[in-house]
Amino acid sequence: KDDMGGGAVTVYDPKYGEIAPQSLRMEADLKHAIENDKLHIHYQPQFNLENDVLVGFEALVRWNHPAEGPVSPGEFIPLAEETGLIHSLGRWVLRQVCQQIHSWEQAGISVVPVAVNVSSLQMKKNNFVHILEECLNEFQITAQLIELEITESAVMDRLEKSMELLSAIRGLGVKLAIDDFGTGYSSLSYLKSFPFSKLKIDRSFVMDLENDENDAAIITAIISMAKSLGLKTIAEGVETELQKQFLIKHGCDEVQGFLMSRPLPVEAIETNYLSSK
Ligand code: C2E
Ligand code: CA
Ligand code: CA
Ligand code: CA
Repeated sequence: KDDMGGGAVTVYDPKYGEIAPQSLRMEADLKHAIENDKLHIHYQPQFNLENDVLVGFEALVRWNHPAEGPVSPGEFIPLAEETGLIHSLGRWVLRQVCQQIHSWEQAGISVVPVAVNVSSLQMKKNNFVHILEECLNEFQITAQLIELEITESAVMDRLEKSMELLSAIRGLGVKLAIDDFGTGYSSLSYLKSFPFSKLKIDRSFVMDLENDENDAAIITAIISMAKSLGLKTIAEGVETELQKQFLIKHGCDEVQGFLMSRPLPVEAIETNYLSSK
């Protein structure tokens, strides 16, 4: 059945123009992976900074290419976005996460909310809320157990539409987090009118906070502004104890990063972090 092996051929597709054969091949392979459940999800734990209690997971999609080995989402997510595959991929991730939560609940395991990344392109398609609702219904998921991570630029690009969409999502009971905060061009005062409950401080600020006074100052400013707007803060990419201590000192609420745990396959998550009620 799988006749996609063999040498690459240069294909001309009038829809795309000349494209490197390699990328067409990867596109076909990614499509195949989505349609045949060949992707999987790793879960990265998130913790309360005050008491180290597990408060959630972020779902991160993984692709183990049959010939190339693991491909980074930093590579195949942009490919999916360029080719339109992001819609089926995004839907697959959402269903997969809902199915996982359902099976944990069935097994009597205490579940924490799972954050799912949503591409701005998914948000632009007008059936997004419908797909979300369908997933929640199919797997009978308490909406509070799903959180969507949306980048600030996705919101700022089209303010009015975003407000409508985010309100509809919030209306379902699904929580919303602003991802990669600080990398875009929006101001917090602008974002405060949107129904976000959490703000994710981008890894780029956390990474250098020990050496770069500006980054440290930006983080403290973000935390205090977020607090005054009633938003929870989570810092991503925390790798050192010093970074963690800095975040505790400045009142950040939650952390996620290699210091605590890498993103892990579901079996390891169950063994290390989940227990029966
Ligand atoms: P992101 O949403 O900012 O996800 C966090 C990334 O930081 C993940 O990379 C995670 O593995 C990594 N990370 C977490 N803690 C640390 C740390 O302490 N140090 C370092 N150096 N890295 C850390 P990953 O899994 O490679 O994902 C990269 C990006 O791909 C994500 O960035 C997100 O934008 C995108 N992505 C991943 N899964 C999905 C998905 O299901 N849907 C969509 N639309 N995008 C996804
Ligand atoms: Ca994210
Ligand atoms: Ca992020
Ligand atoms: Ca990022």
